[in-house]
Amino acid sequence: MRKTTVPEKILPLDSRSLMIEWDDGIQQIFTYEKLRRECPCATCREMLEQAGGEAPKLLDDHFQLRLIPKDAPSADPILARVDWVGNYALRLVWEDGHDTGIYDYDLLRKLGVDTHTIEKER
Ligand SMILES: [Zn+2]
Repeated sequence: MRKTTVPEKILPLDSRSLMIEWDDGIQQIFTYEKLRRECPCATCREMLEQAGGEAPKLLDDHFQLRLIPKDAPSADPILARVDWVGNYALRLVWEDGHDTGIYDYDLLRKLGVDTHTIEKER
């Protein structure tokens, strides 16, 4: 069975994204927008369902914007804090007070973009 990889370092990159360095040497970039959109908490999942199963598009799409419930996350989410949860997950605390999203390492690994991939695409 594959051992779950664990974040070794979490580094803020700029005001919009962070980087996680995993214990297998892989570095991944995460934008706050994506992290917030993929928030696994019940409230956000429910909101997603109400939006028709499609992740609310938060940027540059006026038609989609109307489908987003009024308490949907802002288009420009700001991460306030990252907490360790046991040895399996991170809790992301957003500046608007939303703090119920527990991102387990497997989920994070899926959401991140490998820096190697980014370099290849350039
Ligand atoms: Zn949430």
